[in-house]
Amino acid sequence: MNPPEVDRVAASRAAVAARRARAAVKRAVSERRLSAVSVLDTALSSSESIEASLRVRDLLMSIPGLGPVRVDRIMERLEIAPSKRLSGLGVHQQQRLREFLAKRAPVVERPEQSRLVVLAGPTAVGKGTVSGYIRENYPEVLLSVSATTRAPRPGEIDGVSYYFIDDAEFDRMVEAGEFLEWAVVHNKSRYGTPRGPIEEALAAGTSVLLEIDIQGARQVKGTMPEATLVFLLPPTWDELVRRLIGRGTETLEEQERRLTTARVELAAQDEFDHRVVNRDVEAAAAEVVELMQIQKATDLRSKE
Ligand code: 5GP
Repeated sequence: MNPPEVDRVAASRAAVAARRARAAVKRAVSERRLSAVSVLDTALSSSESIEASLRVRDLLMSIPGLGPVRVDRIMERLEIAPSKRLSGLGVHQQQRLREFLAKRAPVVERPEQSRLVVLAGPTAVGKGTVSGYIRENYPEVLLSVSATTRAPRPGEIDGVSYYFIDDAEFDRMVEAGEFLEWAVVHNKSRYGTPRGPIEEALAAGTSVLLEIDIQGARQVKGTMPEATLVFLLPPTWDELVRRLIGRGTETLEEQERRLTTARVELAAQDEFDHRVVNRDVEAAAAEVVELMQIQKATDLRSKE
């Protein structure tokens, strides 16, 4: 039996209004005026709310930095079917989604704020590839160029890959306080982050990424506690060994030495604010850039 015409018109008007309201919620999340966690909370506290009728997939898609491929992967990981609405989630699904959102999009933030992010991790985990991908694909992020006393490898360009300098110049820069941090890496060469370009970029509102070793990351944390420290992890230990050996550029003795270092380095991951698993360069890079936009708990506390 068909409903009377007047009911059908009213229902279709209500459906249009609901669609518009859902679009407004999604827009507010995408413009960071509304946090995705608070949308979930509203949905769970009232099954009659507009938020309750929102699809999980649409909520995730409205989070800045998340595209369809990543959203599908995240939903698979959270074990939530693509068509699920927030009101239809089971208790465990609610918990998993809440945890994810709290970590990824916890707050309404000031997008104009610049951040200093340090990307570190064990040797051969792919830090250089991930940061290189960010340099090529995210022009809004400044990738710091370090100075080093090691010799250039084939294809490396002075001023782009590194500033290749000699020991005397490195000494001078250390004495003049021109490094934000510096360290001897692999017991061999010295590497340092020039302070000037970073301070200028941060002051101009540009976010900066440092790809440095763990000792350097610790120093940055000491001098700039507001920096965000990201630890890049291999999918598994075996994969790390494979990547290390697979490079084929080091002698057996050097490989052994690097594996020992990698074990020690992996143990440092708890000192970092975030961990990103490097399964896929594009996804890992997107995750790091996304973390550059997340407000840290310490910032929130200082605002209270
Ligand atoms: P590579 O010689 O293979 O380019 O780099 C060796 C290691 O030095 C990498 O782990 C890299 O992250 C680290 N590194 C590069 N630049 C810096 C820097 O400015 N400071 C510190 N502490 N480590 C750096």
